[in-house]
Order: sequence, then C-alpha cells, then structure tokens
Amino acid sequence: MSMEAAASYGPAERALRVVHDGSEIDVGAAERAAADFLRALGMDTTAESLRDTPRRMARAYAELLRPSPFSLTTFPNDEGYDELVLARDIPFHSLCMHHMLPFHGVAHVAYLPGDRIIGLSKLARVVELFARDLQVQERLTVQVADWLQTHLAPKGVGVVIEAEHLCMSLRGVQKPGSRTVTSALHGLVREDSRTRQEFLALTT
Ligand code: ZN
Repeated sequence: MSMEAAASYGPAERALRVVHDGSEIDVGAAERAAADFLRALGMDTTAESLRDTPRRMARAYAELLRPSPFSLTTFPNDEGYDELVLARDIPFHSLCMHHMLPFHGVAHVAYLPGDRIIGLSKLARVVELFARDLQVQERLTVQVADWLQTHLAPKGVGVVIEAEHLCMSLRGVQKPGSRTVTSALHGLVREDSRTRQEFLALTT
C-alpha cells in the first residue's frame, strides 16, 4: 500500500497526515460485478430480498478496503521515557487476500521510545491503515512494524497479531475459534533479550 504523506512541523508537535492513495474504488462497477457474481452462484437477483444486495455488497467491500485518513502526531520525549509503551488488544478486522473472507482478532503493538513519542490511539490507526486492504496476516504484521519503525524511529518495535480466519474456521480445516499468531520485532525489541522477553510476556 502506498501513502501520500504531508509533514507539517510545529516547534514540538509534529503531524504527519496519512492518506490512503490506493486506486479509486468504482462502486458502480463493483455493484454490477456483484450482481453478476451472485447470478453466477445461482442466485436470483430479481427476487425482492436480493434486489438491493449487489449495492450493499459493493458499499460494504468499499468500506472494508478503505482506511480513514488520520494525522500521526508525535511529541518530543522530554522525560526521556525509556520503557516499552504497549497498546494491547487493539481489535481489528481485515479481508484475506486469498478468499476475500474476513479475518479478525487483536493486535498488540509496542515501541521503545527514541526521541519522540506518539499518541496511543494512533497505534490503532496504524493497524487499521494496513488492515483495510486485502491481506495475509504475516504481511499485515510486518507492515505495521515497518511503518512505525520508519515514521517514529523508535529504539524498537514489536507487533503481535492474533486472528481467526473465517476461510479456515468456516471451511472445516480448523475448528472455529482457533487463532493464528504472528509477530514482527525490530531494533532492541528484537535484539535485546530482556526487552524481547518483557514484550512477549506482556502480550501473552
Ligand atoms: Zn483465506
């Protein structure tokens, strides 16, 4: 995913406007395709109960694939805080790239501050930025970690994602409720064993 970002620098506070610039969604074309898709699956799209379904499908997928813009505001780490900052159990949902079925669960996102700190709610926005896309869980995990490493330049980043994939749990491969866990670690969260242990203990 690519982003269009404009930085505006104040004396202390810095805000990076994060706008998804993926190709435009053609909702009309998606609606026509959804009607074709339903008919190909043997559904009668002229039935009253299905008449509006292609439109709803197109809008629902458009929403699921389009993250809301946000400002990544960072502040100087004046107090020199040097312990892990962790946002636990951030709920998220995404769409699996292989089946276009949802996978959903929680993300635990931590960083070890460098010169700057970030509002905690923004960690959830970064997860959403990459979750609203066709995804595989491993890629989502790495993208969130890489993005924070690049834009916040902390001393370390750790991301753990636990998710249930409906393409697995609904199709008999695995039992409903079974979760897949992925992680991506950077900097001292990866290299310093004490910090890594602390992060992993906090996320389990
Ligand atoms: Zn799948």
